[in-house]
Amino acid sequence: MAEPQVEVRRSKRRRQTVSAYRDGDKIVVLLPARMSRAEEKRWVADMLSRLQRSETRRRSPARNSDEALVQRCRELSVKHLDGRAEPSSVRWVPPMRTRWASCTPSEGTIRVSQRLRDVPGWVLDYVLVHELAHLLVPGHGRDFWKWVERYPKTERAIGYLEGLVAASQLQIGLTDDETGAEDAEDADESDGD
Ligand SMILES: [Zn+2]
Repeated sequence: MAEPQVEVRRSKRRRQTVSAYRDGDKIVVLLPARMSRAEEKRWVADMLSRLQRSETRRRSPARNSDEALVQRCRELSVKHLDGRAEPSSVRWVPPMRTRWASCTPSEGTIRVSQRLRDVPGWVLDYVLVHELAHLLVPGHGRDFWKWVERYPKTERAIGYLEGLVAASQLQIGLTDDETGAEDAEDADESDGD
C-alpha cells in the first residue's frame, strides 16, 4: 500500500505517551513536545505499522468468499435497510478501473472490487450498504442518502476511501456506480481485464 499522509502533532501536556489514529484521509500521530527528530521518525514509523496491523485485524470476514459477502449483505440489509434490499447475487470481482463496486438494480446484482478486500470491515460495510441501497433507490438523490446514512459510519468510511484514493493515486470516483444498463456493461468489461 502507498504511504499515507501523516500529520504529526506535538503536545506540551503529553509527556510519555504516543498515539495515532486515522482521521479521514490522513493519519494523525500525537507525540510529546520534547521528543527529538530522530525519535519522532522512529515513533511515526512504529505507530503507522501498529495502526496498519490493527486495521488488518479488523478486516471483514466477508473478504474470504462470495458466500461470506452475500451473508454480510443479508446482515446489513436487516440491520440498516429494514431487510428490504435482497440482492440476487453479490460477488468479488477483479479491480475495476473507476469504481469500488457496482450494482445493476434491474437484476439485483452487486459486484465488489477486490481492492476492498483488505480495508477495515466497517469500510467494506459502508460500500455494501451503499450498493444495497441502490436496490431500493437508483441514483444518488436525497432519498438514496437517507437510506445509506442509516449506516452510522458512512461519513468516516467515505473519508477513509478518499484517503485510499489519494494515497495510491487511484482514479476512483467515490460515487462509484452509475446504475442501469450502461453500468452493467462497464463492469462486465472490467471483469475481463
Ligand atoms: Zn452509488
